Amino acid sequence: MQVVVKIGTSSITEADGTIKAEAIAKLTSEVAQAVTNGHQVVIVSSGAIGAGLPVLGLQQSLPQDSVTLQALSAVGQSRLMALYQQDFDSFGLICGQVLLAPQDFLERARYLHAQRTLNKLLHLGVVPIVNENDAVADDAIRWGDNDRIAALVAHLVHADLLLLLTDTAGVYTADPRVEPDAEIVREINNMRMMQELTAKAGGAGTTRGSGGMASKLAAASIASWSGVRTVIASADYLGVLEDAVGGQLDVGTTIAPQPQRISARKLWLAFAVPPRGVIWVDAGAQRAVMQQGASLLAVGITSHEGHFQAGDTVEVRGPEGEVFARGLTEVSATEMGSVVGLHSSELPSGLPDQVIHRDFLTVLSHAELSA
Ligand code: GLU
Repeated sequence: MQVVVKIGTSSITEADGTIKAEAIAKLTSEVAQAVTNGHQVVIVSSGAIGAGLPVLGLQQSLPQDSVTLQALSAVGQSRLMALYQQDFDSFGLICGQVLLAPQDFLERARYLHAQRTLNKLLHLGVVPIVNENDAVADDAIRWGDNDRIAALVAHLVHADLLLLLTDTAGVYTADPRVEPDAEIVREINNMRMMQELTAKAGGAGTTRGSGGMASKLAAASIASWSGVRTVIASADYLGVLEDAVGGQLDVGTTIAPQPQRISARKLWLAFAVPPRGVIWVDAGAQRAVMQQGASLLAVGITSHEGHFQAGDTVEVRGPEGEVFARGLTEVSATEMGSVVGLHSSELPSGLPDQVIHRDFLTVLSHAELSA
C-alpha cells in the first residue's frame, strides 16, 4: 500500500519549539515497520519553524514577520531532518528531504518533476520527508499548512491512504475542549456530512500549528476527490499506522474516497488555495455546469459573498446552499453587482458573461446530484 503520513507541529515540538525526540522515534519506528511489511511511506512533517525557535533564542514569543519565520524554518528544518535520519539509521533506512511549493502543483512540468522524484525515492526504498519550502516561500504564494500539502502529495503519488496525525483522537461532533458531550465521528462518507463538520470545526487548533480540524477536513476533501482514503487520528496512538493501514475504524476518523479521481489541474483549481468567496447560482445554472460541463454565466448567478478579486478561487453553491464546484472567477466581488442575473446582451462593456470559464471550473459532486 502507498501511504502518506502527515504529522503536525504540536505533535512533534514542545511549546518552546524543542523537538519531541520520542514523538519522532515513535513515528519512525512505525514507518520502519510498515516498510518492512511491504508498504511505501511518504512522511509530511511540520515543525521546522517551531524547531528553529530555541536555536535562535526566540522561544518566548512566536515572531510574526514572514522573514523571521523563513529564517527560523531554515534553521529548524535541518535539525528535524537530522533527527529523522538518526532514528531511521537504527532500522537501516534512508530518508530524503523534499521541499515543495504551490507552483509544483500548478505547473504541469513541475508537477511531473516532483512526481518523478518522489516515485524514484520510493522505488529506491527511501522514505521521502516532505515539507513546504518555507525558507523561500513568501506570503503571497504559499500554502502555510501541511495538511493541504499532504493531501496534494497523496494525489501526486497515487496513495491509497492519507494519515493525518494530530493531538486529538479524530473528528468530534463539536469541539471536545469546549463541549464535554462531544462524540468522536468514526466515519465520514458523504460530502454533506463533511461540510457540516467543517462548518463546526472553526479555526486553528493550537497557537503553534497552523492547521486545526477545519484544515484537516479540507485536506481530507482533497484526498477524497483524489480517490484516497483519509484517516485523522492521534499521533500518540500506539500502532496508529498499522491500524490505519489495516482499515480499523476505531483508529480515529476515516473519510471515504470518492469513486472518481479528478485530474491534477482540476484538483489544483479546486483545492490548492482556499476559496476567497462564494457564488450562489440557480438550479438551471447548476444543471448546466454539472451535467453539460458548461461555463458559469452571469445570468444564472443569484448572489455572492466575500471580497474576491478576478483570478481568485471561489466556491459555487446551488439553490439549497450545497457546494458543488470551485473555480477561478473572472469577475471581482465589486464588479459582481453589475453582472448578477444579466444576459450577455445586457452586460456592461468590458465584463465577461462567463464568470467562471469551464476550463477553470472543477465540478465536485456528480454523486451528490444523482443521490
Ligand atoms: N511548514 C511549517 C513548518 O514546518 C508548518 C506548517 C503547518 O503547521 O502545517 O513549520
